[in-house]
Amino acid sequence: MISPLSSLTVPWSQDMLIDGNLVRGESTDCIVVENPATEETLIEVPAASAEQVGRAVDAARRAFESEMWKDRELRRKVLLTMADTLEENADVLTASIVHEVGTPVSLARSLQIGEPIALLRAFAELTLVDRDRPLGIVEGPVRSDAVITYQPSGVVAAIAAYNYPLLFLATKLGGAIAAGCTTVLLPSPQAPLSILLLARLLQQADLPPGVVNVIFGGADVGQALTTHPDVNKISFTGSVDVGRMVMAQAAPGLKRVALELGGKSPSILLPEAGINALTEQVHARYIRNAGQGCSSPTRILVHESRYHDFVDRSREALNSLVVGDPWDTTVVAGPLISSRHRDRVEGYVSRAVDAGGTVVAGGGRPDMPRGWYMNGTLVGNVTNKSEIAREELFGPVGVVLPYSTVDEAVAIANDSDFGLAATIYGDPSAAKALAPRLRVGTVMINGWIPRQDKAGGGFKFSGMGREIGEEGVREFLETQFVAWPEPLG
Ligand code: NAD
Repeated sequence: MISPLSSLTVPWSQDMLIDGNLVRGESTDCIVVENPATEETLIEVPAASAEQVGRAVDAARRAFESEMWKDRELRRKVLLTMADTLEENADVLTASIVHEVGTPVSLARSLQIGEPIALLRAFAELTLVDRDRPLGIVEGPVRSDAVITYQPSGVVAAIAAYNYPLLFLATKLGGAIAAGCTTVLLPSPQAPLSILLLARLLQQADLPPGVVNVIFGGADVGQALTTHPDVNKISFTGSVDVGRMVMAQAAPGLKRVALELGGKSPSILLPEAGINALTEQVHARYIRNAGQGCSSPTRILVHESRYHDFVDRSREALNSLVVGDPWDTTVVAGPLISSRHRDRVEGYVSRAVDAGGTVVAGGGRPDMPRGWYMNGTLVGNVTNKSEIAREELFGPVGVVLPYSTVDEAVAIANDSDFGLAATIYGDPSAAKALAPRLRVGTVMINGWIPRQDKAGGGFKFSGMGREIGEEGVREFLETQFVAWPEPLG
């Protein structure tokens, strides 16, 4: 069924939000945003000039230093207003996501609107948590009392990837505002429109000026933002290569950095796991959003005795997971973000085949007149050492890897530069016992469980720092130790 939202006219905005005002970018650079399903230009957006980046940071600095922003109740209200604004404009923002990212409409609604609303409301409550930790009296050498307190990091530069724009807005701005920071958000030039639209709606919602600023542009704007002397903390979501650059840019100013980077996550099907019931779910989890998810479990580890059953069942599963028009409510995966990106992902598959691998299920492109589509694809007859099993494709491609013992499955799972997430299917207590052996930031047992108190983030090349929940607030806090002499009572 085609969603009625497909006929909604989205009032695109080209404006940024600086110090409470909507302003057009003054750089001579203009970035074209395209609809990946239709290949049409949606709109061109002028980028921020270096001077405008500075104005946004100055506004955030002034707001951070104002007395009003120390008021937790005000910050809680700001977060609730952001959640309400998303909720009241859910239809138009869902439509905007479908147009610019190609996310299927049902997923856009749940993960890009519903989840950000829930996260912002959870962060609103975390604003009120008293985190002070009294240490108590110590007798010597000076009789004293002390407390550990937590102070906001300051001005936060939040930089987002293209795949889930509104989700990243909620995780980054939610944690930062709950902690008492102010923010300058830079959306991805590949998918900025939903965030620019929300920025306009937030301007109408009358947030205190300077607490949320949204700027726009490419790598040069990102560089100007991350090297600005008045930015204290950088919260970045994106690729490993750009993450490294951001860290290097932050180094001279010794800025705090949180990096949410890529993944090559395993799904471990324990020997006794019910393959018939699970196979479709295992594939659906990584092909959704056309595989453009950081935690996509694209390395599927199956016991060698079940390998052929799994491959057979995968043929049916990948046929039944529909790839196509993102406005169709039954579709699981829409297009990839750009033709260049699809070429890149297809390049990995053809190199794997040239090296002896086989497309054992799915593969190819769906029959669509336009759009950067690709079918879900499962590659077999490769090892965990092959390029396709080691690098992040960010596309709807999985590899199936046999193992002989559970210890070997753990070794294969850990043999990766990445460490973002793992899913284990099978007996829950056996799975729980395996979790501490996996070098990853998130372990999901028998399916993906969304929670607003999770601590998302990775080991190894998957990044540093955590987002969401209490850890997601602490990421934006500095620890302060306060001690004083206590006279004998
Ligand atoms: P990207 O690294 O190409 O871009 C991310 C952002 O960085 C963009 O907004 C871009 O404009 C900005 N940028 C580019 N150069 C910069 C510079 N020198 N300084 C500052 N900012 C700069 O990533 P992408 O293609 O948008 O997203 C895909 C990647 O994001 C994948 O690797 C994926 O795994 C990762 N990702 C990670 C998570 C997570 O939570 N771990 C979530 C989603 C996506």
